[in-house]
Amino acid sequence: MDTEFRTKGFSKLLPNTKHETALFTSLVLGVPLSAVWMWLVILPDYHSVYNGAVLAHFLLIVLLVFNVMTNMIMVMRVDASGDASVLPVILKPDWKFCHWCELNSPPRSYHCHECDTCILRRDHHCKFTGCCIGLHNQRFFFMAMIYSLIGLTYGLYYQFPIVFTALGVSWYMFTPALLAPHLAWMLGYISHWSLVVATVHCTALTAWSVVIYVLWTQVHVLLTGQTQYESKNNVTKYNVSTMFNVKMMLGQRWYLAVLSAFVRSPIPSDGLSFATTKSHEEPKDI
Ligand SMILES: [Zn+2]
Ligand SMILES: [Zn+2]
Repeated sequence: MDTEFRTKGFSKLLPNTKHETALFTSLVLGVPLSAVWMWLVILPDYHSVYNGAVLAHFLLIVLLVFNVMTNMIMVMRVDASGDASVLPVILKPDWKFCHWCELNSPPRSYHCHECDTCILRRDHHCKFTGCCIGLHNQRFFFMAMIYSLIGLTYGLYYQFPIVFTALGVSWYMFTPALLAPHLAWMLGYISHWSLVVATVHCTALTAWSVVIYVLWTQVHVLLTGQTQYESKNNVTKYNVSTMFNVKMMLGQRWYLAVLSAFVRSPIPSDGLSFATTKSHEEPKDI
């Protein structure tokens, strides 16, 4: 059964803990500020006059920021819990009783103590958005990561020659000065401006590494049709086919869902029952 998602009320959108609020703030400020940095610091180094190339860069930056932010907003807005589902009174096969919710919980759903509810086909809890990633919002999380990777790779590629010039140190001092710019600045090897440029580059490199790691885990569960819990516990029965796994994460209209968070793309499950390798087996000749 295809299902559409429900959205949360505004009071439930923002993260609950100080730690998650700090990470969320770094995300909300970091994404637009990195676009401003790209526009005001990096691009003028390559183009002294406004031309078609500058316009193309501008449109690409706007597209990337827009898609990262809209997908992240949808991660937070979509209700990943099973609160709205009609749950059975008796325990069905593969269902379990959740002692915290005091409800019968469907297969593949797990209780999140940070969100204080059971999440349908729960993958993991995202500290940056303060909410769980599950059946209904994993599509948005995955695409936010993809667009973040494109943006960070694009920015780092164009920024690298500028960092190299700004640091102005010999090649054997470049890596130490880049990785510990504060130390290099205190020892007088680099200027104030070089410290700023190197710090931005280091921060972007760290973000790029985190995004690569997260995407690696997401591509793995996408290809194997698993959640992270199922991957750790070797549960393989939901790995129906690669195309079905893609639709379970990105929806029936996955080819359009990759372009924008605003495209409707229903998931082929209501979160209460799931196709398995057994239910998809071809009927055998008798
Ligand atoms: Zn629960
Ligand atoms: Zn959670």
